[in-house]
Amino acid sequence: MTLFDLPAYAGHESVHAFHDEKTGLKAIIAIHSTARGPAAGGCRMWNYESAEAALTDVLRLSQGMSYKNAMADLELGGGKSVIIGDSRTQKTPELFRAFGRAVDSLGGRYFTAEDVGVSVSDIMEAGKETRYAVGVEGSKAGSGDPSPVTAEGVFRGLKIAAKHGLGSEDLNGTTVALQGVGHVGAYLADKLHAAGARLVITDVNQEALRRVADKTGAEIVAPDDIFDTRAEIFAPCALGAILNEETLPRLKAKVIAGGANNQLATPEIGRAVFERGLVYAPDYVINGGGIINVASEVRGLQRDEAYDPQWVEGKLARLMETLDEVLARSAAEKRPTHEIADAIAQERIRAARG
Ligand code: NAD
Repeated sequence: MTLFDLPAYAGHESVHAFHDEKTGLKAIIAIHSTARGPAAGGCRMWNYESAEAALTDVLRLSQGMSYKNAMADLELGGGKSVIIGDSRTQKTPELFRAFGRAVDSLGGRYFTAEDVGVSVSDIMEAGKETRYAVGVEGSKAGSGDPSPVTAEGVFRGLKIAAKHGLGSEDLNGTTVALQGVGHVGAYLADKLHAAGARLVITDVNQEALRRVADKTGAEIVAPDDIFDTRAEIFAPCALGAILNEETLPRLKAKVIAGGANNQLATPEIGRAVFERGLVYAPDYVINGGGIINVASEVRGLQRDEAYDPQWVEGKLARLMETLDEVLARSAAEKRPTHEIADAIAQERIRAARG
């Protein structure tokens, strides 16, 4: 199968492969759409088993960014990058400098930022070679780590989903099963705890689990047991594709609302979630806070303005209204939430193309 025949390639404007022999960089940048503005989306470093697996991942993720940026009503298109390698053992400053040069060669059609396996300091290294690396600290427009804003959006979105699925936004006494207490999950745990929720948490990182449990009194369960946990809300904040044929029948929760990207293994699973009567907050809507924060930096750079928390708050509040609309329409039109969100995002991108 050629690149152009891959189902995930559909709709993409361009795909760019980079290899730097000196640093060992192997990276792919996918630009799904620049209709609404320059493409923006994070850089993921992952030990993919093959270049094909990396390609499929970056294509899926870049389309997701187009939809996410459109739903957050940002003047940005969608793109994403992946670096093939183990982020724990193969990271060097030179590698990220080479990645920065790769981003720069696209002349501003793509802005990069942090994603899984890539930290603020990695992006700042890339930023020594390009103006198109955002999510940095210490500069006038710099927006820093997007995770706290992502978690704030997920927290607000989770309450909206609770209103639709459980009849109340009040989380006092509600049990939340939280999968993954990394950057987003740990901030989210703090907020849920402060709102009076009872937490059941899991992670493969024992130290992260201990830290969150000590702070919040959360109960810890083994990674696979999170799907069988008695909870009103399931909040996935770790991996993609965790809603699948194996896990869905096990879930006890009425509401699924978490920060992880690509939660639905397939669109059909989204339909099955709906048919089981569960309220699912579409991932790329509820987790859009991080890209809003990053977008504020792109905007600041374009206008030579400082980071503007009020602009971020305005966009986040509007995104949460959009999530509320998506969930209300799902109930009224008897259609899965992800189909409604996809249709709104596609229409916004089409309108910009027109
Ligand atoms: P992270 O790497 O800091 O946290 C992920 C956590 O999941 C880690 O603690 C990891 O140990 C844990 N984990 C890995 N495998 C697991 C398993 N099998 N079971 C349970 N836990 C497991 O990443 P993050 O930045 O917190 O992002 C979490 C998710 O949210 C990702 O899907 C990411 O794409 C998405 N997301 C993040 C942001 C952001 O601003 N950081 C924005 C939008 C979406």
